[in-house]
Amino acid sequence: MSDSTFYNQITETFHWFHQNPELSFEEYETTGRIREFLEYYNIRILDLDLKTGLAAEIQGGNDGPVIALRCDIDALPVQEETELPYASAITGKMHACGHDFHTTVMLYVAKELQEQRKHLHGRIRILFQPAEESSVGALEVIKTKVLDDVGGIYGLHTDITLPVGTVGIVSGSVTAAVDRFTVRLTGKGTHAAHPQDGIDPVLTASQIVTLAQSIVSRNIDPFSQGLLSITRVAAGNTWNVIPQTAELEGTVRTMGRHNRRRFRTLVQHIALSQGAEAEIEWLAGPPATNNAPCFEPVAAAVATEQGLKVKTSSPSLGGEDFAFYQEKIPGFFIRIGTGESYPNHHPKFQVDTNALKPAIDYFTALAQKTLFAIKSGELIPAQEEASDD
Ligand SMILES: [Zn+2]
Ligand SMILES: [Zn+2]
Repeated sequence: MSDSTFYNQITETFHWFHQNPELSFEEYETTGRIREFLEYYNIRILDLDLKTGLAAEIQGGNDGPVIALRCDIDALPVQEETELPYASAITGKMHACGHDFHTTVMLYVAKELQEQRKHLHGRIRILFQPAEESSVGALEVIKTKVLDDVGGIYGLHTDITLPVGTVGIVSGSVTAAVDRFTVRLTGKGTHAAHPQDGIDPVLTASQIVTLAQSIVSRNIDPFSQGLLSITRVAAGNTWNVIPQTAELEGTVRTMGRHNRRRFRTLVQHIALSQGAEAEIEWLAGPPATNNAPCFEPVAAAVATEQGLKVKTSSPSLGGEDFAFYQEKIPGFFIRIGTGESYPNHHPKFQVDTNALKPAIDYFTALAQKTLFAIKSGELIPAQEEASDD
């Protein structure tokens, strides 16, 4: 097949996914299209116990380890405003995070690896993961045990800050742990003129708002990134009543794992000191991604061999459920330059389709080289502990 025919075939696949976005856990047509593609190229499909999403497996001609490549396949409830000829055909839904790009890349990586399978040393499992945007798809995939014998995992994401032909590579955290909390305080309502008869939850809430910032300034290593924002405060409904309750809501974003505890202790102790009661509802999102340094040399070397530029990814306080895999097995999350655009999740977000082919070639070579490096003992997959901030 000529290069231009191959290029057209890839972009056609990408256009189809872009035109047919589906939300988290509703990726039925998307999964159907992935299945059809894999069946066409005789690639083994692993029937996972999942409603949407699936895995493909390529068995090499030689013995060796098992590694995984992961892409996400879901879209967002965003009305597209790009005016692209292949814009979303579905009202109110859009691939505004580039997961259509990820899916297309991994389908063609599967095809390429399948063609080269005789030369592979081990097995490659490609995960087409549902529901990244709802932050829980990875947990569903983990439950299927498809990763139980996997030694290492790679993930990818489009990056609008990097030009086409550039990859962003860095060890350690690249995205943050994103948690959300609600604090419900119960004091004792009373007349504003008789504070001694009540317990003022407004005062307690105010102390929490102020002292919570001491976690960022006093408990986190100044060289680590982290933030705590209390974004909603609600209490009372008139001027001469000390209310019975108060409520706070906010988010904690950190690059480490361990400082979530500190907030609970602080809130409980402040409440206790005032005689108020505090109930904390904590909605834990994914932890921070934690790229295992052992993969960095091979990820960078393959990029250079492929004629790609390597940049150090700057960390983001956004979240990514790939981090759940990295809690189980060593993994590495790589950013792929897709050219300038409106930001991810914006109705005018878009990727440059010229970035497809280099990404396919890159991950094909990376999978091959990683298997070989593990088999030859040159690479020993291992996860370093996340920093204790
Ligand atoms: Zn997203
Ligand atoms: Zn995304």
